[in-house]
Amino acid sequence: MKPSPISASVDFTRDGVQHGFLKLPYSRDDAAWGAVMIPITVVRNGDGPTALLTGANHGDEYEGPVALTKLAATLVAEDVRGRVIILPFMNYPAFRAGTRTSPIDRGNLNRSFPGKPDGTVTEKIADYVQRHLLPLADYVLDIHSGGKTLDFLPFAAIHVLDDKGQQERCEAAMQAFNAPYSMRLLELDSVGMFDTAAESAGKVFVSTELGGGGSATAKSVAVADRGVRQFLIQAGICAGRIERRDTVTLDMPDGDCYVTSLHDGLLEMCRDLGDAVDKDEVIARVHDVTRTGVAPVEYRARRGGILAARHFPGLIGRGDTLAVVAEIVG
Ligand SMILES: [Zn+2]
Repeated sequence: MKPSPISASVDFTRDGVQHGFLKLPYSRDDAAWGAVMIPITVVRNGDGPTALLTGANHGDEYEGPVALTKLAATLVAEDVRGRVIILPFMNYPAFRAGTRTSPIDRGNLNRSFPGKPDGTVTEKIADYVQRHLLPLADYVLDIHSGGKTLDFLPFAAIHVLDDKGQQERCEAAMQAFNAPYSMRLLELDSVGMFDTAAESAGKVFVSTELGGGGSATAKSVAVADRGVRQFLIQAGICAGRIERRDTVTLDMPDGDCYVTSLHDGLLEMCRDLGDAVDKDEVIARVHDVTRTGVAPVEYRARRGGILAARHFPGLIGRGDTLAVVAEIVG
């Protein structure tokens, strides 16, 4: 395969703290020989495990960028055994635009793995992470939230994996992150995801959904701050004691967890995040916005459980995920 066009200004093998960039050449109207400069921090102290911490895989999700920016500014080499690679704004063009996908190529980074060295800007980022960063890592934490169009209960998540030993290590890392909720996540389509790339490479991988709506709250950032620290302790990279608070374990056993809107219209939620819902209970109504005097369409939970995610904006479109009902398993 062709070499990546991305070059790192940091030396991943050097001890100490380095703040630098991944430089991705990007020729455009306002900069003929310009580049996308993706900030990166590497903190290394001798041999030991490596953690790769990423935020803004989607550009409108903010707990990761906030927590990782703070970590990059404060983590010192003496705190570390091994190495921490911090990429707070992984899809940097999308992050700067405040959008889920890249304004350059509309690339959704979390659907672009393994990427292409000679592809679009987003595919080049994916390829660099896949071939140059993932091989360095033992532990990978990718911090997501709902972005502008979804809102979630704050949870850390793992997937069910074929390799049960690997799944146990992921589960232990998720428990160490210790979000208020812990989720065994069912993806409707896992092709091209960073999760799949990291899990296929045998890494201990944890992702999160910590909130949403296109901003972060004091509460959701606190979950991220604490989770990142405890993830590094669990990895054996930072010293300290893991403080375990109660976490509610959730499961999404099948596609019935998802409620999809079949109508365009005005969304009226009848239940909020964290509410218990019964099977067939009305959880939302969608009102016709083209005329008055029309009864709304009722949307019902397809299973009992807890409302774990919802469509965030007040208007909803046909095909949008309206809600996710998860099962409480512990
Ligand atoms: Zn995301």
